Amino acid sequence: MSTYETAAVDGGAPAEDRHDAPGRTAADIEPVAHETLDRTLTGIATVVPFLMLAVAGWQLWNRALGWSDVVVFFATYVPVGLGVTVGLHRLLTHRSFKTGPAVRGVLAALGSAAIEGPVIAWVADHRKHHAFTDREGDPHSPHLHGGGLRGTVRGLVHAHVGWIFLHTERAAKARFAPDLLADPVVRFVDRTFLLWVVAGLAFPFGLGVALTGSVIGGLTGLLWGGAVRIFLLHHVTFSINSVCHYFGRRRFPTDDESTNNWPLALLSLGESWHNNHHAFPTSAEHGLRRWELDPSALVIRALERLGLAWDVVRISPERQAAKAAPA
Ligand SMILES: [Zn+2]
Ligand SMILES: [Zn+2]
Repeated sequence: MSTYETAAVDGGAPAEDRHDAPGRTAADIEPVAHETLDRTLTGIATVVPFLMLAVAGWQLWNRALGWSDVVVFFATYVPVGLGVTVGLHRLLTHRSFKTGPAVRGVLAALGSAAIEGPVIAWVADHRKHHAFTDREGDPHSPHLHGGGLRGTVRGLVHAHVGWIFLHTERAAKARFAPDLLADPVVRFVDRTFLLWVVAGLAFPFGLGVALTGSVIGGLTGLLWGGAVRIFLLHHVTFSINSVCHYFGRRRFPTDDESTNNWPLALLSLGESWHNNHHAFPTSAEHGLRRWELDPSALVIRALERLGLAWDVVRISPERQAAKAAPA
């Protein structure tokens, strides 16, 4: 495993280890093959759900929102969201627990349906974020964009959504995710990314039809379980990169600007305890205190009880206290 990866994956290693990693080099960056096509598809995936919100708003305004749409929304938001948090993030990026190939494949496929890019690129970029957090080389730091109000706004826009249109700091997959390139299950899900995107749209349509017995119910299901779900999940994920490196509390004096942000805890399925996460990257639990709501950690605990997850990484109160203490 490369130095970068060790720093990104291994929460047991002290944060100072990151600085033992050599500075960033050109070999860290994934070359882009079809930049215009990539930007066009990224634009469609971010703008179309946003435009569809107008239709959803009209439906709400006219009290035409059916109970089936609410069911379809939650039936897609929660599993796809968990695919990102439990699958792409805690399992595949940080190896915070172990599981078998079937669960790994299902979680990777669910996460792919979020349309945040194919799984291996997602993991590589996120590991690079951990290796260079809030320094040159971080693909999406809200800092590093100059001072004053202008620099702050530019930084937040870049961290939230701007970076996905840039290819200058994308992580080289061979360098940051060699383990996933060697995993046949993950490689299959990565290669078939579009299939999971389509499945993530076909499912809410089919569920809408099944619940209402009409094609109209299928189309409004597609609106809520497709467009609205994609929009909300995108912006919640984006907020971890922007808001949770800017606004909130810092329990641990980590070597970056990460924060814990409670208002986002439920929607982000526990990912907004982001200062905790940067302090202990391999921890399966991002909510470390009883009241720090973390639905993803509850799911991992449930998988563990069912015998589907094992070697779950947890951080003892003593280790937490040692790290929280001022140096
Ligand atoms: Zn972060
Ligand atoms: Zn992470």
